[in-house]
This record gives sequence, C-alpha cells and structure tokens, in this order.
Amino acid sequence: MKTVDLIVPCYNESGSLLLFFSHTSEVVAGIPGYDFRFIFVDDGSTDNTLELIRGIAAEHDNVHYISFSRNFKKEAAMYAGLKASTGDLAAVIDADLQHPPELLADMLKAIEEGYDSCSARRVSREGEPKIRSIWARMFYKIINRMSEVEIVDGAVDYRMMTRQMVQAIVSLPEVQRFSKGIFCWVGFNTKWIEFKNVERIAGESKWSFWSLVRYAIDGITAFTTFPLRLATIAGACISFAAFIYLIVIICTTLIFGKDTPGYASTIVLLLFIGGVIILSLGIIGEYLARMYMETKRRPIFIARETNFEKEPKEK
Ligand code: UDP
Ligand code: MG
Repeated sequence: MKTVDLIVPCYNESGSLLLFFSHTSEVVAGIPGYDFRFIFVDDGSTDNTLELIRGIAAEHDNVHYISFSRNFKKEAAMYAGLKASTGDLAAVIDADLQHPPELLADMLKAIEEGYDSCSARRVSREGEPKIRSIWARMFYKIINRMSEVEIVDGAVDYRMMTRQMVQAIVSLPEVQRFSKGIFCWVGFNTKWIEFKNVERIAGESKWSFWSLVRYAIDGITAFTTFPLRLATIAGACISFAAFIYLIVIICTTLIFGKDTPGYASTIVLLLFIGGVIILSLGIIGEYLARMYMETKRRPIFIARETNFEKEPKEK
C-alpha cells in the first residue's frame, strides 16, 4: 500500500484545525489503496494551535508534527513538511479547508495515470476582495512575461507530488523560497485540476496587501533577472534620446541662432532621469539584498518540537 503524506502548514489555525482534521480524515478514509499520514507544521503560532496538534497526535498514530521556534512563514513550513516527508507521495494542503480534501482522490488518479504531480487551480476568486484579484492577475501577467518558468494564474499551493519530485524540490538550496516558482522550475509533468474558491472556515487570511506586494517582488526576483536588464534598456533608451536631443539642439542653434533655454524642460528632464536612476538603483538593491540574505546561509526554519523520532534535519 502506498503512503501519502499530507503536509499542513498551520499558523494560528485553532479555529479551523479540528474541523480540518476530522473532515479530511473522513474524506481520505473513503479513498482505498492508500495510507494517509498527516504532517502538521506549526509555524510558530501564538494561539493554541500547537496544543491542538499535540492532542490530535496523541490520539492518532498517523499524525506527525513539527513546531517552529517562531513564525518562519508558509514557505518555510511547506519546506519543513516536504523535507520530513518519507511517503511515496506527498501533498501540501492548507489548514483552513480552502483546499477541498475531496480533490485528493482526483489528484491520486492523476498520479496513477502517470503524472508526477497534480495541482489545483482556482477558477474563481469569489469571496476575495476585488482589488486583490486585480493585483493577482497583474502579478501573473508580469512574472510570466519576464521569467522562463510559467506560473499558472490561479495556481494555489495545493499539490500532490511523487517522491522524486519532492526530492527535487527539497534539493533546491535557496533560503528565500518561492514555491509557486519552484514547483514549475523543477519540471516534471503536472496535471491541473480546477476548483471554485472556497472561503476559509474560521479565522482570517494572513495576507495583507503589503505582504502580497512583498511576495510578488520575491517571486519576480527569485525567478528572473529581467528587471536588471530593464534598467540597462531604460538607460540605453534615455542615452539615445539625449543624444538625438543634443543633435537637435546643435542644429537649431546653428540654424536659428541661440534660443533661450527652457526652465520647465530642464527640470522635467532632470527629474525624469533622476527618477530612472533611483529606480534602477532600487532594482539592483532588491537583488543585492537577496544575495546578501542568501549568502548568510541561515537555516530555512528552526524546529522547537516534533514527534518525529528523528528530528527532521535541516539541509
Ligand atoms: N500559514 C503559515 N504561515 C504563515 C501564514 C500562513 O503556515 O505565516 C498557513 C496557514 O495556516 C494556512 C495556509 O498557510 O494553512 C494559507 O494561509 P492563509 O489562509 O492565510 O492564506 P490564503 O488562503 O489567504 O492565501
Ligand atoms: Mg486560506
């Protein structure tokens, strides 16, 4: 019998955890031929999420958990879960029941058909603020235009993978992880299944507008260096335009004599060029900052407690 590890990142999910566990257990019990295990990753929750997880683990043999020493963010939690997973298959799933466990059966079917991975894609963004959907759409357009990896619009971190793919993912050493990109980057064939957005059962989404903006910049910088080239291109265009303008000025001065220089145009040009320079420096800074953070080689997470016999080793 094949084993499937369900990796569940949890951050302050006391409101949904028990419901998630009972509902998901019920659903997977109806899927024959597979042994399901839960790997809860408590991402430094400040409510009683960890106590609830301990309680579940004490009652069920198929429940494992890792608890972080602080909040290391969902990317780290997913990594820790994947790293600890030893099953033939592993699936990452949210604790708030926004990822319907009913899809697990379809995902298993896809893997049986020979796919290496099966991932869910939201086809509607109902129940989500309008502005957030607009930003999200824009983000996918931008990142796909710029980078080689194709990040599917509406893709969520709900995915089942074979052992081989899990190993490929955890072998990527970067500390600042952007899983949506990593899943695509490692390749393998993925089947996409669609589902309608479901509202979370309890609690609130941990994403604020600014954290999403940061996430988007992380995603772009992690998978493409195109913005750096953009600075070069902008510089070249401006230099070229300035050169043309220079010739125009020389010609008009020679032909029509000296004209009074315009104050407005000078200021506008100055501000424009200044702006482009600062923007380019900012872009370089974004990459530099990430290089700096990567070179520190800090662990992706620090575990404080776990019920795995052997503590999942970092790297
Ligand atoms: N999560 C986490 N660490 C964080 C934030 C979120 O492990 O710092 C978990 C959270 O408990 C949930 C999943 O990641 O299981 C998705 O989080 P959320 O529902 O807030 O995101 P959304 O569904 O709004 O994208
Ligand atoms: Mg959610």
